[in-house]
Amino acid sequence: MKKWVYEFHEGNADMRPLLGGKGANLAEMTNLGLPIPNGFTVTTEACTDYYKQGKQISQEIQDQIFAALGVLEQQRGKKFGDESDPLLVSVRSGARASMPGMMDTILNLGLNDVSVEGFARKTGNPRFAYDSYRRFIQMFSDVVMEMSKSFFEGILTELKESRGVKYDTELTADDLKELIGRYKAIYKEKMGAEFPQDPKVQLMEAVKAVFRSWDNPRAIVYRRMNDIPGDWGTAVNVQSMVFGNMGDTSGTGVAFTRNPSTGEKGIFGEYLINAQGEDVVAGIRTPQPITRLAEDLPECYAQFMDIANRLEDHYRDMQDMEFTIQEGNLFFLQTRNGKRTAAAAMKIACDLVDEGRITPEEAVLRIEAKSLDQLLHPTFDAYGLKNGEEIGQALPASPGAAAGKIYFTAEEAKAAHEERGEKVILVRLETSPEDIEGMHASEGILTVRGGMTSHAAVVARGMGTCCVSGCGEIQIDEEAKVFTLGGYTFHEGDEISLDGTTGKIYKGMIPTVDASVSGDFGRIMAWADSFRKLRVRTNADTPADTANAVRLGAEGIGLCRTEHMFFEPERIPKIRKMILSDTAEQREAALAELLPFQKGDFKAMYEALEGRPMTVRYLDPPLHEFVPTDPADIEALAKDMGMTPEEVQQKCDELHEFNPMMGHRGCRLAVTYPEIARMQTRAVMEAAIEVKAEKGYDIVPEIMIPLVGDRKELKFVKDIVVEVAEQVKAEKGSDMQYHIGTMIEIPRAALLAGEIAEEAEFFSFGTNDLTQMTFGFSRDDAGKFLTSYYGAKIYESDPFARLDQSGVGQLIELAAKNGRATRPDIKMGICGEHGGDPSSVAFCHKVGLNYVSCSPFRVPIARLAAAQAAIANR
Ligand code: PEP
Ligand code: MG
Repeated sequence: MKKWVYEFHEGNADMRPLLGGKGANLAEMTNLGLPIPNGFTVTTEACTDYYKQGKQISQEIQDQIFAALGVLEQQRGKKFGDESDPLLVSVRSGARASMPGMMDTILNLGLNDVSVEGFARKTGNPRFAYDSYRRFIQMFSDVVMEMSKSFFEGILTELKESRGVKYDTELTADDLKELIGRYKAIYKEKMGAEFPQDPKVQLMEAVKAVFRSWDNPRAIVYRRMNDIPGDWGTAVNVQSMVFGNMGDTSGTGVAFTRNPSTGEKGIFGEYLINAQGEDVVAGIRTPQPITRLAEDLPECYAQFMDIANRLEDHYRDMQDMEFTIQEGNLFFLQTRNGKRTAAAAMKIACDLVDEGRITPEEAVLRIEAKSLDQLLHPTFDAYGLKNGEEIGQALPASPGAAAGKIYFTAEEAKAAHEERGEKVILVRLETSPEDIEGMHASEGILTVRGGMTSHAAVVARGMGTCCVSGCGEIQIDEEAKVFTLGGYTFHEGDEISLDGTTGKIYKGMIPTVDASVSGDFGRIMAWADSFRKLRVRTNADTPADTANAVRLGAEGIGLCRTEHMFFEPERIPKIRKMILSDTAEQREAALAELLPFQKGDFKAMYEALEGRPMTVRYLDPPLHEFVPTDPADIEALAKDMGMTPEEVQQKCDELHEFNPMMGHRGCRLAVTYPEIARMQTRAVMEAAIEVKAEKGYDIVPEIMIPLVGDRKELKFVKDIVVEVAEQVKAEKGSDMQYHIGTMIEIPRAALLAGEIAEEAEFFSFGTNDLTQMTFGFSRDDAGKFLTSYYGAKIYESDPFARLDQSGVGQLIELAAKNGRATRPDIKMGICGEHGGDPSSVAFCHKVGLNYVSCSPFRVPIARLAAAQAAIANR
């Protein structure tokens, strides 16, 4: 019989895939002898089984859950549903990778009309017992039965008003008893059944709800953003309840062993006296700093500090811990390696190396490659900031600077960003997990409520989005979409700026500037560079981008898209003339005008590269992308070419294609108009020879022919390139070497790579087009329907962002293998968007490519991801 349920003492920290992160750590802490309330974990495999059985928990799993419950009853000396001393449990999700706030939790389970009386007697505190029961009814109805919270909140507000009180704590035991009656009535009215009284039914429904929550929309979005596979499932932890809301010697809190924003060593966290865990995380009351606990409950604080230090030693990493104190007794409810900003991650990793606790390899593995994005995020321009008008300050919840237009709902923030390209600041009373997409679309997030560990703070830090939280000075009316702060009133669409590092809020838009990175960053990257096998190049086509990429560690250019050089106002009329020419002579004349520009560009690029290599990709897009649409442009072009505007218009119309991405583009242009390839070859060779002579750099041009599908097609263009290159060399008396290669971006090229390698000295996988043509998804339009595919669980992630290893990956592996069989020293890399995506970089390492090439800001990500892949595959 398969084991589906583990008591805490049966597991350990290495059993994460089966027990989830929370379950594995509860097991580990139990084995360390720490004060952990007893409990058990229902495995992630039980969750996948639940889905396999059509969302049913099998009898076998149910039997094992009840058996574990029996053991728990014995351990605690209490019975589930007992009329004198009932066992109460919490039911919490816990996936393999932590997904804060994405899934469900139910507390106080086991209370019913009978056991609440026993609980009241046992605790000698009827008010507390009824309060627990009414909280449970509300939570169960919301989380398990998916009833709206608003029904319950409405009743609570009504009752408070009728009693003339402001706070829940002012309600008496009798008030709460009345509340329970009314809660149960609304439950019956809405659900058509009585509130379940059998605790075993409550438990099984709660377990199902947690399993179900694995697939709620916000969890699906979170998984897609964090590359978490949908088939992992979540575990469920059932744990005996301890109560932080039993009076002034009780409390609950969350704390980190180092500061999760800066990485600074030392305890950091907050707690609330007389509260339950959800009060801290939900950010409804503003908590006290953890160090205050030393005054409130000194013995608990000492014990807490001792355990916190032990946990950090044990895990050799910064810990994020949840604890509850019940009447002076401290319990740990969870520990995990804490989420942190990229800057904090760098500092913590370097400090741990210096403290002798981890090796540089481990330090490199500790940094989430994607998170480096944050370090490279903007800060305020110092001058702009000096003139900025500060209107308030709150908690610096997630660093970075942001300026934008205010929106009050996640939906509107998302729409403003996606549909109108606006920079957006999301302003909310408090955020909730449903807001995740709107938070993602925002430059910054400002909340009225909540501490440093509130939802907004945790999620924003994870996303690297600037966040200022807990700004109690704000008077907000979310319905009316207006808030006041610092004497000003702001409406939807008004502009503000946020500094997530200081917590300051400013009126208007303050300009931002690029980030600069710390010494820790340099150390981590130097370690990464010493471990990685893949080289990292960049995709750039201007000297400024090139210089920036070099600063970020690029070892050369893997893709210079030459068409981008033609879009400048001075140049575009010339390329238009070339496109609309009738004869080769006319075209050559137009190209001759473009040559000096193109050569000048290449010279500037070679200079910016200071001797690093550059792959120049020849003209690629369908020509109609260049044709004029503005009547004034058409008129100017007509005049220049001695034609009528109507004739120009007609020629433009003739260029129309039904499927331009599969049309007259790439090397097909050079096949029909060889003079284009001639001009580009002359430009590259002359530039290289001249810069070599002027600067002494050892330049070996790499010429790349795009969109090849056949060996003969490549040979045709290559012959043109060789002819002109040799001609230029002869003219200049140069012996410059050069390489000619191709992109592999059409499935046919991948299939015939063995033959193509006869002509190609290098392959660069153009995974944007290769994905487009392998899936048959237009890269420009697929976003419109892919969301439905995620919803239907056909695909989990955007194949244009994360390489489809099972399909497109096969083509790459095949092409790499066959290419090497023909030409063992063939150089291979990738230059599609995937070159900066960590999981895709790991794939490139595995397949044995020589390099990845990505946009400048993703260069550090690729360097780190390449090192991580190399360490992991040792
Ligand atoms: C590609 O197709 O992956 C590629 C890098 O070329 P482009 O994006 O310019 O088509
Ligand atoms: Mg392409």
